[in-house]
Amino acid sequence: MEKIAVFPGSFDPITVGHQSIINRAVNIFDKIIVAVGDNSEKENFFSIEQRLKWIELVFANEDRVSVSRYSGLTVDFCKKVNARFILRGLRTSADFEFERSIGQVNKQIYPEIETVFLLTTPEHTPINSSIVRDILKHGGDASMFVPPEVEF
Ligand code: ADP
Repeated sequence: MEKIAVFPGSFDPITVGHQSIINRAVNIFDKIIVAVGDNSEKENFFSIEQRLKWIELVFANEDRVSVSRYSGLTVDFCKKVNARFILRGLRTSADFEFERSIGQVNKQIYPEIETVFLLTTPEHTPINSSIVRDILKHGGDASMFVPPEVEF
């Protein structure tokens, strides 16, 4: 059976940290679906269309990576696309505590699912989308934290 992993997140915007996790995961899974959450309650900085477009550009030459938008429960999306794995990145112990409960609850509601965590590489540990947004809000240069395809 094909090993399909869903990498869910806001990707507001995609960073070099996200990119690194995906590039490492293509060696583990047959296919990665980067699933961009379309959550109306969450206020996003960039539009869903823009966030999807950037990810498509970054992985334009990688057949094993596709991009989708989704709303609702991540496990329901996984069922829909026949994915048995949820991919997440772990930076800090705070990430671990947050991920632990979500991963355990997801397993309870969909026992076939396995959440797989990749530890971030040391140089990517401090990078996250919210820091990129803060830099942009204050007129700074965030280009070193995002893939070159992401142009603000
Ligand atoms: P969410 O809104 O679910 O936190 P994000 O878009 O911030 O979504 O992140 C999606 C996934 O990418 C999460 O598993 C997160 O831990 C991981 N991630 C984010 N930044 C990094 C990074 N710098 N290094 C490794 N993983 C990261």
